[in-house]
Amino acid sequence: MPRPLKCRRVAFLPNVTYFKPAGIPLRALEEVRLSVEEAEAIRLKDLESLEQEQGAERMNISRPTFQRVLASARQKVADALLNGRAIRIEGGSFEMAFRRFRCLKGHEWEVPFEVMVSATPQLCPTCNTTSVTPLQLIAVGSGRGGTGGHRRRRHGR
Ligand SMILES: [Zn+2]
Repeated sequence: MPRPLKCRRVAFLPNVTYFKPAGIPLRALEEVRLSVEEAEAIRLKDLESLEQEQGAERMNISRPTFQRVLASARQKVADALLNGRAIRIEGGSFEMAFRRFRCLKGHEWEVPFEVMVSATPQLCPTCNTTSVTPLQLIAVGSGRGGTGGHRRRRHGR
């Protein structure tokens, strides 16, 4: 029986997804493919300096899984860096995290984490009040009923 593939929660999609070493002709260039969740693991551990436990929690996976994803990511980056390979960030099995906000008057809305990384919402989009409270974190599409209003990103390999 196939186990259901568990989605890793990702809060950030990098803007630049291709890195190429200088001075190597495209024809001779080998490519390393980093999945989006591998990039996220590096971001959480090495950029945000989280403990593995916290990183695992953010991505909604177990600590051993986080460790495995991170090790694979670092190995690929090291390979690219030292062996002169290009890095392409794409694919994987992940879902974007959203956070729900509520204003003073009770309007509620959701903001994708990728947006929140650059700017936390200051205004209610309905009534423009500045009394805005962050509510719970939402993983897109995980058992929230089929309202159809939620975007779901799942990139195949
Ligand atoms: Zn409002």
